Amino acid sequence: MLKKRGVAILGSTGSIGTQALEVIEAYPELFDLQVITAGNNADLLIEQARKFNPNMVVIVDETQYTKVKEALWNEDIHVYCGKESLCQVVQSTEVDVVLTALVGYAGLQPTIAAIEAKKDIALANKETLVVAGALITALARKHGINIYPVDSEHSAIFQCLPGEQINPIEKIYLTASGGPFRGFTEEQLKKVTKAQALKHPNWSMGAKITIDSASMMNKGLEVIEAKWLFNLKAEQIDIIVHPQSIVHSLVQFEDGSMKAQLGLPDMKLPIQYALTYPQRLKTDYPRFNFMDYPQLTFEKADAKTFKNLELAYKAMELGGNIACALNAANEVTVQAFLEERISFLDIALINESVMEKTTLIDSLSLEDYMATDREAREQAKALIQ
Ligand code: NAD
Ligand code: MG
Repeated sequence: MLKKRGVAILGSTGSIGTQALEVIEAYPELFDLQVITAGNNADLLIEQARKFNPNMVVIVDETQYTKVKEALWNEDIHVYCGKESLCQVVQSTEVDVVLTALVGYAGLQPTIAAIEAKKDIALANKETLVVAGALITALARKHGINIYPVDSEHSAIFQCLPGEQINPIEKIYLTASGGPFRGFTEEQLKKVTKAQALKHPNWSMGAKITIDSASMMNKGLEVIEAKWLFNLKAEQIDIIVHPQSIVHSLVQFEDGSMKAQLGLPDMKLPIQYALTYPQRLKTDYPRFNFMDYPQLTFEKADAKTFKNLELAYKAMELGGNIACALNAANEVTVQAFLEERISFLDIALINESVMEKTTLIDSLSLEDYMATDREAREQAKALIQ
């Protein structure tokens, strides 16, 4: 029987955050929700706080503090604002596990604060490992905490590993749906719009990861995420396009045997596995039916047309701060694409220029990562003007 766990959800108003709250609502005997936080969606944060009665809430956008504070004055809930507060609330003694469901580089410092306070991490925020995987994994080892993957592909790999402690991984295959532009040529990609890019065939997710999926940057970020989570080399990580998103990823062992994890696409499964590992919870979610999927298909990823894939492998090969620069450039270019200030193909072109302009630093402190992030953002912005 599982012990009740104190949970903090960073980014509770997002796609992962709201699904995590559904999981918590379904198993009140397992979870004690201590903390929820939002970037700027004050209305939803207030609604969630009233419903779940956490001990603390954080609204990062300081201009909305009074609104949240006043709405919750009658409840027994501590209300904080500003990004520094994220680093404070994760340290609460009542918190056992921190689900990092906020988006982008903003996840880095709260994750560090949580690890230093010896909290386990349920990691959705892949950007943190992309930016500073060496630092984060070293800190996790130092403080003896676990990082449980929430990303569906990484959860799949993680689910294939119990019982294999003595068996090295030969390689892994991360599956990719291919996104809305699978099979497109460069010529076709020139004309795609924001609305088309925001329509993912299989998953409903936040705007940033949806654009990353369309540009294949998401899979690139996931390759780097996998390197750090499973301690692999670039050549041990392969991508295979699987448009049905049923096989969530695969592990190959040294005898050539492969294990895969399958299921209907539903992020609630990896979220709850990360929160209750190694136990699986009984659910009544729809079950996979073979007759609905007479064919599961697999094809090669097109890293030439979807250049972001190539960039991610390059960043991994170069190491140091290069993936941090790529991530920063990508956050800026995705935002610019969402604001319709650059074209779809510009995303990868600008990401590449920023990577090329970045001076490699090998052994990094947090300050070095912060400086690389800042400089890469400035370079990307200058290229967009
Ligand atoms: P989302 O945009 O739906 O939600 C993001 C959450 O973070 C919101 O609560 C928002 O208020 C908060 N937030 C945004 N910017 C912030 C900032 N600067 N500081 C503090 N809080 C901020 O995003 P999402 O789709 O839920 O994705 C969250 C993370 O999970 C991302 O790193 C993404 O790559 C990863 N992920 C998501 C999915 C998915 O199905 N949505 C799957 C795998 C991994
Ligand atoms: Mg994924």
